[in-house]
Amino acid sequence: MAAIETFGLMPTPENYKLWFVYYSEVEPEVKNAIDHVLDKEPINDDMCSEIYQKFLSAENNSKVVESAGSQIQKTINDVSDAVAMANEWTEGYNQSLKRTQKGLTEEKTQDEINEMLGGILDETNTMLQKNASMKELLKRSNLIMQDMQRDLEIARKEAVTDGLTGLANRKSFDMEIERLSQAVASGECDTFSLLLMDIDHFKAFNDNFGHQVGDQVLKLVSKTLKDGVKGRDLACRYGGEEFAILLPDTPLEGGRRVAEYLRQEVAGKDIVNRATGESIARITISIGVAEYKNPEKLDNLISRADEALYSAKDNGRNQVVSGPAGAPRKQA
Ligand code: GH3
Ligand code: MG
Ligand code: MG
Repeated sequence: MAAIETFGLMPTPENYKLWFVYYSEVEPEVKNAIDHVLDKEPINDDMCSEIYQKFLSAENNSKVVESAGSQIQKTINDVSDAVAMANEWTEGYNQSLKRTQKGLTEEKTQDEINEMLGGILDETNTMLQKNASMKELLKRSNLIMQDMQRDLEIARKEAVTDGLTGLANRKSFDMEIERLSQAVASGECDTFSLLLMDIDHFKAFNDNFGHQVGDQVLKLVSKTLKDGVKGRDLACRYGGEEFAILLPDTPLEGGRRVAEYLRQEVAGKDIVNRATGESIARITISIGVAEYKNPEKLDNLISRADEALYSAKDNGRNQVVSGPAGAPRKQA
């Protein structure tokens, strides 16, 4: 962990865990809290401990983080033990070379010289063997580190992905909406729009066709939403049968257009009985759209999109309703 060295922090398991969480970005609050400190000053052990207590106390710990933290700690200990041992070996070998060098400057018989050279040759051989085993140990540690890196990458993906649909999950939504509001505040992004959507009469659908077919529909809707938005847009599963889409640099009118397109795409899909191949139903969604009004609270934006969604339901479902347009934007 470079940060532990850079800031001269104690190499405690807590610090390793804290910085692992920071770099893997599984807990946005931890990243924000640390970045907040780093914006102003170098971080010290007391500040790390405070952030750790606040966000990573026992009940907040995920198992993956816990085990990765201790595995990282163990591998680092192994490698630093190995480096210390290698230093000792090298030091011993240097002493032997010096002794031999000194011995060779004194008058010696050929037999004595041969004996000295034989000794140093033996030591050189032992040193080569030790080097080979050291190389092996470092190679193993490297493989373990690569394994952990892969596991952590998988864990990081899982932490932000919905298990059933493979869509980004609520946590990802929370992270992305926060990032977008900051991007607007800093002028990096002009504006953004939020679409909240909910499947119409889904309870009745589940009651008629069963939960498994219901789950298939959730997957189909998810895929339709994912395929229907561009690279920078984020489609998430917001709750049970509710979805949210974040559209960077998109004012209300653009958001409405995307929503209308998605509504039609979903309504156009046939729900097919896999066993018989026959079409069993159609599914529709209602969508509420709102544009971010810098510097409003995110809860406020979500409430406005939610109110628009309720109006869409009240007006008869299978439609898009948008909240009032955002504040007039600066001219470029
Ligand atoms: P409305 O048009 O007003 O949205 O009606 P609705 O029936 O869709 O709304 P309601 O919120 O009353 O019901 C949501 C239902 O969605 C409840 C549950 O049956 C279903 N549901 C929620 N999550 C899941 C899920 O993960 N899988 C399945 N199969 N069904 C789910
Ligand atoms: Mg609902
Ligand atoms: Mg519903």
